[in-house]
Amino acid sequence: MTTPTLAPPQTPLDVERVRADFPILGISARGKPLVYLDNAATSQKPRSVIEATSTYYEAQNGNIHRGVHYLSELATILYDETRATAQRFFNARHAHEIIFTRGTTEGINLVASGFAQSVLKPGDEIVLSTLEHHSNIVPWQLACERSGAQLRVVPVTESGELDIEAYHQLLNDRTRLVAITWVSNALGTINPVRDLVNAAHTRGIPVLLDGAQAAPHITVDVQEVGCDFFVCSSHKMLGPTGVGILYGTEAWLDRLPPYQGGGDMIDTVTFEKTTWARLPSKFEAGTPDIAGVVAFKHAMDYLDRVGLERIAAHEHEVVEYATRQVQEIPGLRVIGTAAQKAGVLSFVMDCAHPHDIGTILDSEGIAIRAGHHCAQPLMRRFGVPSTARASFYLYNTRDEVDVLVSALHKVRSLFA
Ligand code: PLP
Repeated sequence: MTTPTLAPPQTPLDVERVRADFPILGISARGKPLVYLDNAATSQKPRSVIEATSTYYEAQNGNIHRGVHYLSELATILYDETRATAQRFFNARHAHEIIFTRGTTEGINLVASGFAQSVLKPGDEIVLSTLEHHSNIVPWQLACERSGAQLRVVPVTESGELDIEAYHQLLNDRTRLVAITWVSNALGTINPVRDLVNAAHTRGIPVLLDGAQAAPHITVDVQEVGCDFFVCSSHKMLGPTGVGILYGTEAWLDRLPPYQGGGDMIDTVTFEKTTWARLPSKFEAGTPDIAGVVAFKHAMDYLDRVGLERIAAHEHEVVEYATRQVQEIPGLRVIGTAAQKAGVLSFVMDCAHPHDIGTILDSEGIAIRAGHHCAQPLMRRFGVPSTARASFYLYNTRDEVDVLVSALHKVRSLFA
């Protein structure tokens, strides 16, 4: 298995060396060198993650927690190693506070379903924000339908930042949970999550942080931030699809009922009564994506080796450069200009629909996202049906930004 040998954290990120670890970055798309700028949708995978997946199926495959034989034991050890790695990566107090899920969406649904069943009562309130991805809206609407609770929504300012005063005003004695994104996928806004958590905790309100866009780019210390729940997806942080993490404090995970019933999540079963397994098994019914979980460890190891601070510094430089360059293009408007932003550049052009922009860019080998980014309420807030979004990660370069900018000039020349 290849291990990247990268320089110590103080030095800037060696992008060419990083790129060499990602086989897909060498392909052509539409006959042009691929410029992959859709990282907020999903990230590409380093060779170590790809190899971990094939090694698993070639030499390690067995079902976990079920057999006494060699392969079952080996698979179980590898599976639990990822849990231990995630515990360190996110600084959870206990390994059993890390629950494997299919991704951010499932993690939120798990918590929302548990709240609907055992916490929420008619008249209770859940506080969300206008910045949320549909994954952090719809599960709460379903929970409200089941329980009679209501959603309260924190507005955002013109720059795409949370209206903090409004947030404070929305917290009250009826608030049972704050569920809020750490980083906006559509605009890149980084929310001041520690302050948000502190304000909620002062009133005894628990907080769920949607970390889908934070975990790939920011050092997440769940104990330091103090959140009660944190969710993320492996596939956005260099790992496989179909795997994610729900972190919950032991107290909360013990309190919530199981999400799904099945094998592995029980202690004893009779037709009269079933008792639950201890954490984390209580929330991990059935056979999971074992290969995906095993390979996810290698993604976190890779991010650790490169260093999230160094990655964030690199992305910041690239997105700042890109923002300066695109603002030179007449008729282009950047949406989302928060002071604290991750590597996301959302924009509209007066001459072309975002889908036309996406199509022209695609013909140049450039992958961006055009659409509502699963954030329709946020699009509505800015009076647009959709935006074009370039999102950057550790392997993107200034040269790729230049290719993007010249293709945007081409869009303008074709449509204006
Ligand atoms: N939340 C945010 C902020 C996201 O950006 C995404 C995906 O783009 C999700 C939730 C849903 O993640 P997944 O589809 O991996 O479950």
